[in-house]
Amino acid sequence: MLGDNGPVTQPHRADPRATAPTSHSGALFERARAVTPGGVNSPVRAFNAVGGTPRFIRSASGAWLTDVDGNEYVDLICSWGPMLLGHAHPEVQAAVTAAVARGTSYGTPTEPEVELAEEIVARTPVEAVRFVSSGTEATMSAIRLARGFTGRDLVVKFAGCYHGHVDALLASAGSGLATLAVPGTPGVPASAAGETIVLPYNDRAAVEKAFAEHGDRIACLITEATPGNMGIVPPEPGFNAFLAETCRRHGALFVSDEVMTGFRATRQGGWGLDGAVEGWVPDLMTFGKVMGGGFPAAAFGGRADVMGRLAPEGPVYQAGTLSGNPVATTAGLTTLRLATDEVYAHLDATAATIGSAVVDALVNAGVPHRLQSAGTMFSVFFGDDEVRDFEGASRQDTTAFAAFFHAMLDAGVYLPPSAYEAWFVSAAHDDRAVQAVIDALPGAARAAAGATDNREGNRS
Ligand SMILES: *Cc1c(COP(=O)(O)O)cnc(C)c1O
Repeated sequence: MLGDNGPVTQPHRADPRATAPTSHSGALFERARAVTPGGVNSPVRAFNAVGGTPRFIRSASGAWLTDVDGNEYVDLICSWGPMLLGHAHPEVQAAVTAAVARGTSYGTPTEPEVELAEEIVARTPVEAVRFVSSGTEATMSAIRLARGFTGRDLVVKFAGCYHGHVDALLASAGSGLATLAVPGTPGVPASAAGETIVLPYNDRAAVEKAFAEHGDRIACLITEATPGNMGIVPPEPGFNAFLAETCRRHGALFVSDEVMTGFRATRQGGWGLDGAVEGWVPDLMTFGKVMGGGFPAAAFGGRADVMGRLAPEGPVYQAGTLSGNPVATTAGLTTLRLATDEVYAHLDATAATIGSAVVDALVNAGVPHRLQSAGTMFSVFFGDDEVRDFEGASRQDTTAFAAFFHAMLDAGVYLPPSAYEAWFVSAAHDDRAVQAVIDALPGAARAAAGATDNREGNRS
């Protein structure tokens, strides 16, 4: 099953916490299910992986969400990454309100687009960017550009890395390493998946084998800069540099997907953790989430000679009616300008505090776990072993996670409703919000301990 943000959620299981019919969330969910598949507009929101009823959120401020029943939660989803500054930040709100008052879309070039592009070029190694409206559109366009630039068709990706719902990237490994992939969901043509090679993450030998067999047909390799869509699974030291070099040797482009990590893992995104230090640069990068400041805005960018192949400068076609929308680019620009070094230091410290409190609580309750992090992003795997690829992530105890999740929710902390997701904090997560998380942890850890026995049938 495909998540919002990740390639997997667990199959639905018998649900002891059935929709509470008396709550406004429960009633809204019933109405939503009558008119929308699964009652949601992106799958992981539906709680299928953890059971129960999603809370319908009415408003949010800073680190806090308020649902339609008036319950408050510390938000550790942060819209799956974008809300770096917290919800309803006064300066972002003021800039957006002013932008709306000037009209919401013109279909002409505008100043905020130029300023946001300049900000992204200043923070990252890309020389030029093109705006789109979603991360999916960014990776789809980057792949088309890589194919147009190289004149080749094959794409290499890693199992467990999510790049949006692009046909060629919703593919699963075929029956052996370096063979062509099969559709990852009904609706993806075998021909689209057949242009993709899916490899295990952090596996250099598999990458070498794929390039040895197909190197002259590979347009690009795409990877999350540091995977966050199977939980946080950092690249082993030097892995991204190895990928960049392997691509270079074979005339393929190295595409680093920073839709989640961009302007989030560090000021310079995931690239700030390795490339900026080691001195290599991706050929293309994709961005989304934080750079939209809570609005639909995303981008792809990279080497000037590659980006110059894009229409109208070059022959590779790409376009969008709302691309670079003035309200969305204003929200993104204001967010990035406010995302100072102090903000990233706060995010680092907050993530470290919450992460170590989670570890303490799980240790005390005797629950096997692994905390993994990349810059300001972190996640907790409910299992004993270090996770270095999707197979490892799939070995975790999702029953324990579901119990933990619901105990946290009942105690007023809204975690991502899937064991395969990163946890997100914001600049607005202050002492009160962090303390509320810390207070909720011991009870949730005990709930997880009580649920760990019945593991069979809950592994993917
Ligand atoms: C969220 C995400 C996407 C897709 O972005 P959407 O805006 O949801 O289409 C692509 N790549 C990565 C790494 C993501 O985390």
